Amino acid sequence: MKHILVTNDDGVLSPGLTALAGALSRFGTVTVVAPTREASAVGHALTLHHPLRFDRVSDEVYALDGTPTDCVNIAVAIILKGLPDLVASGINKGLNLGDDVTYSGTVAGAMEGALLGVPSLAVSLERTKAPYDFTHAAEAAALVAEAILRRGLPPRTFLNVNVPSGKPKGFRVTVQAARNHVTSVSALKDPRGKAYYWIGEAEDSYEPHDRSDYQAILDRLVSVTPLQPDLTAHDALKLVEEMQFPPSAEDLALRDRAEVE
Ligand code: MN
Repeated sequence: MKHILVTNDDGVLSPGLTALAGALSRFGTVTVVAPTREASAVGHALTLHHPLRFDRVSDEVYALDGTPTDCVNIAVAIILKGLPDLVASGINKGLNLGDDVTYSGTVAGAMEGALLGVPSLAVSLERTKAPYDFTHAAEAAALVAEAILRRGLPPRTFLNVNVPSGKPKGFRVTVQAARNHVTSVSALKDPRGKAYYWIGEAEDSYEPHDRSDYQAILDRLVSVTPLQPDLTAHDALKLVEEMQFPPSAEDLALRDRAEVE
């Protein structure tokens, strides 16, 4: 019997969360620990400066007044008192593609699972004008979860799953797209005449790439991208080495020893 932890960033009342928990219940016991209120775009934030409390909403559903990352940690330390076999985050209302994964609370929930050593996935569904229908996304999530439970994942790796609206034509393993990053900031006045600002995405286009997560959605496919928390730009290591920052005494000693040997 597997134990599965489900979280999200849209909040404990989101129907996407219920759909995901329902779809994964065929694999074992599902415990839901999700933010009390919507916590979209909080990224990998961890609450350090105020107390956290949770309420038991129903049998295996808990609402925590924190971020998705808080939810995973409180679940493991207090509610489950141990690691689950799988962490699943979503189903998010709206895609989490390309560079946008760094803002996503949904993706961060799965990343925290991976950092704790648990195979994890994040699931997001394309936004349309029609009301969300999570049926196909929940089925896609179950297929990916089953594969993870059967095959496992390398350490510190998790899967970012994005599902097009409607019935998908199939699956594609993808890489992150690069978004043409234009953010709009609207400057407005509140009723008291004081300035306030509203941030939005001005452009939602991506650089063309056959294998990108964005292209898979355009092709009406479920996109499955393996991600890892390591953001090191390996191609830039040589350039940064050449900047020749002053080495520490310990590094100099190591270098001397290497020369002697
Ligand atoms: Mn969200």
